[in-house]
Amino acid sequence: MISEKNRWMDGGVDAYFFHEPLIFLRRRGAKRLDMNDSFLYQHSEKHIESLKKEGIELVIFHYHKGFGPELEEDEMPLTEKGIRRCRNKNIRTGVYIRIDNIITETFLNKIPEAENWLAVDSLKNNPYAIGLPQYFRKRVCLRNPGYRQYLEKIIKRAVKELDVDVIHFDGAWMGLESHSCQCDMCRKDFLDFLYQKYPDKTARKERFGYSDLNSIGLPHYYDDALSPFEMETISDPVMQEWIIFRCRSHSETMRTLAGYAREEAPSVVIEANYMCPSGGNLAYLQGVWDSWSIRELDAIWSETSDDAELCENGVLVSRARAFKKARTCSSMVFYIPNGELSWWEGIVFGNGAVRFKFNKSKFIPNPKFTKNYKKELINSKSAAEIAVLHSFSALAYNSRETHRSVVLMEQALLQSNIHFDIIFDEDLAELNNYKALVLPDVECLTNEQCAKIKGFVKNGGGVLATEKTSLFDEYRRERRDFALSDLFKISIENKNIENINTHCVFGKGRVAYLGGIVAGGKEEYTVKVLDWGDFGFTKKNWFLPENTNAIRNSINWIMNYDCPVDVYAPYTLLSNIEYNDKKFIIHLLNYDTNNKVYDLVVRIRKKLAGTTQAARLIIPGKKEKTINLINGNEKYELIIPEIEMYALVILDNI
Ligand SMILES: [Zn+2]
Repeated sequence: MISEKNRWMDGGVDAYFFHEPLIFLRRRGAKRLDMNDSFLYQHSEKHIESLKKEGIELVIFHYHKGFGPELEEDEMPLTEKGIRRCRNKNIRTGVYIRIDNIITETFLNKIPEAENWLAVDSLKNNPYAIGLPQYFRKRVCLRNPGYRQYLEKIIKRAVKELDVDVIHFDGAWMGLESHSCQCDMCRKDFLDFLYQKYPDKTARKERFGYSDLNSIGLPHYYDDALSPFEMETISDPVMQEWIIFRCRSHSETMRTLAGYAREEAPSVVIEANYMCPSGGNLAYLQGVWDSWSIRELDAIWSETSDDAELCENGVLVSRARAFKKARTCSSMVFYIPNGELSWWEGIVFGNGAVRFKFNKSKFIPNPKFTKNYKKELINSKSAAEIAVLHSFSALAYNSRETHRSVVLMEQALLQSNIHFDIIFDEDLAELNNYKALVLPDVECLTNEQCAKIKGFVKNGGGVLATEKTSLFDEYRRERRDFALSDLFKISIENKNIENINTHCVFGKGRVAYLGGIVAGGKEEYTVKVLDWGDFGFTKKNWFLPENTNAIRNSINWIMNYDCPVDVYAPYTLLSNIEYNDKKFIIHLLNYDTNNKVYDLVVRIRKKLAGTTQAARLIIPGKKEKTINLINGNEKYELIIPEIEMYALVILDNI
């Protein structure tokens, strides 16, 4: 559910951005001769008018790229003019602020002391923000007080003088390993962090081997040695603590920068782009843990290439995971749809999401639908009764297997239309909001977490666990046996554990254990960063697992054969269920754009429908229809005659 102050984004927003200042476009190298003209046109009355006609409700303007004071000032009157023109037409506005780097060749002339703000890696180099050919952009230490003071002024000015609705932070990460900032201040703060966490001498000795940590080495890499992208598991205690320190620093940075803006205007939307990829170890590589950081923000930008698509090899790609993560943290997703299917995905999974027009030919909004039905979707919450756990230690200290299992489990659930939320460690406190919990190779769990999960099942909850779930503690130290061994009724001693597929009862609840998730196609782990943020178990591996049927059966078992909604669809149609005060909502999205789906059967638990006897069927471009609910044994059934791409089913007055 979206937070109160950001309700204007709820139900979805079509948006536009031109965030690059002319100074940057020129320095980077003009791609077109008419660049100046098109840049000026962007701010013109004519252009803003055309955006308004298209239904654009938010425009993000260039504001701060990192060239330093005065240089970008030349272009500020244009930003101001554009903002004014938007406001006159009731279009909301935002500004772009790049935070992870400065263009040293100009910046240092204006503020020489900014030399001390630069990030310093383990080889004492000032790393580039992004790769070649943009060698002129150097990373800064986001924790540096001088740099923060500078950013504070920039941020406050945008909020006070330009009165914008949105602040967009770009480059919102701690910097790619092997070039994490190890400046004197970061090093000192890390040591303080260790001493605070382990005040006791014996505890330090137990964790690190010795207790005087003052000369302890930070993770160190040579460029020609092992790439951090090839580190499969991380058991070095300093590296583990360094990952925690970096991720905590990131969420603290987000909170601090957001605070500068909120001090001036509490309702301003703070959104940050850290890509939000799925399948890669972002905690280790970029110092970002979704749960800790998203909760500090009102929105995140998902800039991965996970755009909705049914690939030729049968892989179904979706951005559903980013939408689900944001939703759990009461946040929204900003993204650039690359086509009609992708645009609808924001409606289906993302509370509507904030959809940016970038490439005109690929941005296919549906203003008629937005105008007529957006209001139906506002204030909706997930109706999922199953939660999939993303646990920090399992995903931060293992860059391969655990990510693979999470992605493939979610793929099986998505394509089987088993509706689920993604939750994080802290959400286990609210576990009773769900009927079942899925633990895809959650190899690291604390004793407390295991006790919590056991209690949940004892009282009637369901658990599906796979592979090494609970075999390790929170520092990835292997136990003699699964901590949840009595729950699974399986021991690590069991032979051929990867083939085990069992269902059992524990207390009042039900448990299923699957020894393996079988690949549905040829898997390839990507060790290089591709396409901005795509690394690890990338989308090309997202084949539907071969044992998806076993996963479905296990879910049915742990849910006591009573999922709230069953959708009898091909694997290429995904769905989502939501409710608000009086409505129950089912979104259906067909990814197979070459084949329509006919006579789709949907069964709804009777209790969810209340006294309603009919549902409204809304298909874009067609007249709204009423469909009667057919009375079955435990569920109502409704049949949708034909779905081309998107269909919306609404049960009113439940
Ligand atoms: Zn630093």
